[in-house]
Amino acid sequence: MTFPTTSNQVTPAFPEIGSPWQTLSAQASLEKFQSDPEKGLTQEQINQRQQYFGPNELKDTGGRSPLTILWEQFTNIMLVMLMAVAVISAVLDVRKGAFPKDAVAIFSIVVLNGLLGYLQESKAEKALAALKNLSSPKVRVIRQGIVQEISAKELVPGDIMLLEAGVQLAADGRLLEAQNLQIRESALTGEAETVNKQADIILGEDAPLGDRLNLVFQGTEVVQGRAKVLVTSIGMETEIGRIATLIQGVETEDTPLQQRMSQLGNVLVSSSLGLVVLVVIVGVLRSGWQNFEELLEVSLSMAVAVVPEGLPAVVTVTLAIGTQRMVRRHALIRKLPAVETLGSVTTICSDKTGTLTQNKMVVQKVQTGSYAYEVTGEGYAPQGDLIAQDSDEYEINGEIKQLLTACVLCNDALLQKKGKNWEIIGDPTEGALLTLAGKGGLYREDLWLEMPRVAEIPFSSERKRMSVIIKVFPEADKVVNLHSYLMFTKGSPEIVLEGCTAVYQGNQAVHLSDDQRKQILAQNDRWAAKGLRVLGFASKPLSDIPEHDRGEMAETELIWLGLVGMLDAPRKEVKGAVLRCREAGIRPIMITGDHQLTAKAIATELGIAHPDDPILTGRDLQQITPTELGKLVSEVSVYARVSPEHKLQIVQALQKRGEFVAMTGDGVNDAPALKQADIGIAMGITGTDVSKEASDAILLDDNFATIVAATEEGRVVYDNIRRFIKYILGSNIGEVFVIAAAPLIGLGGVPLSPLQILWMNLVTDGLPALALAMEPAEPNVMQRPPYSPRESIFSRGLGLYMVRIGIIFAILTIILMVWAYNYVKTPGLAGDPERWKTMVFTTLCLAQMGHALAVRSDSQLTIELNPFSNPYVLGAVTLTTLLQILLIYVPPLQSFFGTHSLSATELLVCVGFSALMFVWIELEKLVSRWFLLKKQ
Ligand code: ATP
Repeated sequence: MTFPTTSNQVTPAFPEIGSPWQTLSAQASLEKFQSDPEKGLTQEQINQRQQYFGPNELKDTGGRSPLTILWEQFTNIMLVMLMAVAVISAVLDVRKGAFPKDAVAIFSIVVLNGLLGYLQESKAEKALAALKNLSSPKVRVIRQGIVQEISAKELVPGDIMLLEAGVQLAADGRLLEAQNLQIRESALTGEAETVNKQADIILGEDAPLGDRLNLVFQGTEVVQGRAKVLVTSIGMETEIGRIATLIQGVETEDTPLQQRMSQLGNVLVSSSLGLVVLVVIVGVLRSGWQNFEELLEVSLSMAVAVVPEGLPAVVTVTLAIGTQRMVRRHALIRKLPAVETLGSVTTICSDKTGTLTQNKMVVQKVQTGSYAYEVTGEGYAPQGDLIAQDSDEYEINGEIKQLLTACVLCNDALLQKKGKNWEIIGDPTEGALLTLAGKGGLYREDLWLEMPRVAEIPFSSERKRMSVIIKVFPEADKVVNLHSYLMFTKGSPEIVLEGCTAVYQGNQAVHLSDDQRKQILAQNDRWAAKGLRVLGFASKPLSDIPEHDRGEMAETELIWLGLVGMLDAPRKEVKGAVLRCREAGIRPIMITGDHQLTAKAIATELGIAHPDDPILTGRDLQQITPTELGKLVSEVSVYARVSPEHKLQIVQALQKRGEFVAMTGDGVNDAPALKQADIGIAMGITGTDVSKEASDAILLDDNFATIVAATEEGRVVYDNIRRFIKYILGSNIGEVFVIAAAPLIGLGGVPLSPLQILWMNLVTDGLPALALAMEPAEPNVMQRPPYSPRESIFSRGLGLYMVRIGIIFAILTIILMVWAYNYVKTPGLAGDPERWKTMVFTTLCLAQMGHALAVRSDSQLTIELNPFSNPYVLGAVTLTTLLQILLIYVPPLQSFFGTHSLSATELLVCVGFSALMFVWIELEKLVSRWFLLKKQ
């Protein structure tokens, strides 16, 4: 395979895709790809390769094909029943010698409904695919000598990719360098154990996939360590692409509601079949077989009436609208059930750093073995001063130099100037340390050349510290002239201090006394109580690099270098969001890896806890039993110095108490807790790919306030779903009663034909129902407790409402029907005597218009609502009324739908009767208000 030639350039030969890269050394692979490990590819190479290879994407085999979506529409049990109704009705008509109009119409409506469902669902699939794009991961690469973050889609073979813990690989590659790299390859090989990868080995061609230790594969996860990788294949050419089993991104799942809806469909279909049998049997018993055909027609109409044909489409659209609204508020939904269940959240467990706080760290205080400093300056710009409290000492001070050196070298972040601004790539905590060092005149670019890193023990939330081992050239540092290496450790002060036996004072390491230890811890507490995030630093000269698995043992007998305190201010909007949570009956809980006093200070400031509230630490959690924790979870709102596994215990304890828990997470090890939580929420900015994969939703801005906003949207979605279910099923029940009543009270014939019923269920009910799905939040939506996600859709009076309103519907229409039946027979009155049926049809349709207007709110009267807060309802009602008028008066439609022109008086009577429906619902609201007032 060769590159296409551009202009006068010689075409470079390009290696075969799928070459056994494990058999080549890193250098040989680089040569094949004409890539440079330090500089990466040039812009020209990138353009050329992007054009040649296309985007790095897996063809999504998980999405349903258009044909499958279309077919599924017609396997819906309700449509199958309608088709059966059409067949029977056709047989009846043909036997009578009439054209099977109803059957043709039912078939066309079945097809139309199927097509509409198809369009809606494929639109929903597309929307989900767009969401998937939004959540497409970013990759850190070296291109043109600069480290940059690009979208995974833009990767090309030959790119130099940088890996760190938490990354999910976006392409296959050959390792160039690897430090302590542990990769979980279960997505590819099914092997749960992590694999320890190495760059400097060469393997045989027949090495099985799981043993190719010098290669990394797309879709696998970096659990620990760092690496530099040469991208060898992308997209469908990767190992995972070839077996095409892993589909990244958004999952399509039926929501609990959709599942309940299909159950409801089954119940409705079987009950309507039951009704058909019942009506036929009772009818035959009463009047013998001569009316059999009429009875069959009545029961067919009833069967059509009971099925809410428009409901599934409206539910799908509502959920789609919900995801769109949430994205606008920066919450990306990955699993559809979250849209509806977010509204049921009773507890939100949130990380502190970055979610409750801004994650913009600024170092404020520094304490070395002997000296204290205040740091000036803002943001990440390394402009400002370290003002020593004892200022004369500063210039000659080697202690601060050692501490700042540790800040720079024990650090994985990059500080870069972009235009006028300074930006960091990497962890903000580490970025702040680079800024601090810059203020003291030390920069990464200089130090890393002088003192290259040779090994490291990476940071993890469990260890709460990290160490690096640096090669020192004796002339570069007099302090360690007997040693070839220097280890720097930084992390949680208590933990780092525990490993220290000496302290660096006056350019030498001296014994660390117990008093000094106490003073350091007291200093740490004082800063933490002010809400500062405090890190401790230490160093240790080494003569050798410890063996790979003995690294942690080297983190003892350290020399204490000092403390650094940085401010991470709370996000401004969070205090308000916490208050809204409380009003909405949701308890916010802070779970942080930070010091308990820092956690307490921030939690108190934000209103998550009171100053005297108990705090549990990771250590406490290790000592108590699950039963004890079960009792404590209801009182404790702040958990500090916890590890990811504690998060899992906390969620489980809360769930045991019946709480419905949303939990945030960003690290690799947060995945189990995210999965266990009812709603797992990953961080869009700082979150690892692994945490995103495990989550139901992603916060695009990492902000706690966004969770609260999404919860509100979830409540709105659920309220709207209940609203249109009330609306649609109420009318269905009414229709059934009216149809059954006609033959019972001795009116000849069926008042509504199957075609008219379909029209009502799909158009005159369907359009306003869609509009009701757009209803904005009710004013009290966040001032009431959450509803249980396990409650039945018919709970809180909804089932009762449907039956009650169905009966009122039926009573009103039956009275009208009897009046109309007798009225049309008035001697001398012009018009078709069958038009009493058109009056019944029109009254039912118009009554639903009043219902649509009134059902917008449970508590507020329609005149109290702003009609333009949901203009769609007004629009749908106007449009539907116009369509109904057309159906009554336009001759071709008349003959198609079997309607007859009504006189002005008759139309007015219909309008009058329908208006009574509206009046009834408004009266119900007044009565319930009166009861509420009486109760108070
Ligand atoms: P949260 O869990 O709310 O996000 P956090 O960021 O403090 O809080 P972790 O990232 O688990 O939680 O960090 C735990 C502790 O580890 C921190 O309080 C700090 O003392 C230490 N720490 C954090 N980042 C680093 C780092 N890059 N290097 C060394 N130590 C660190």
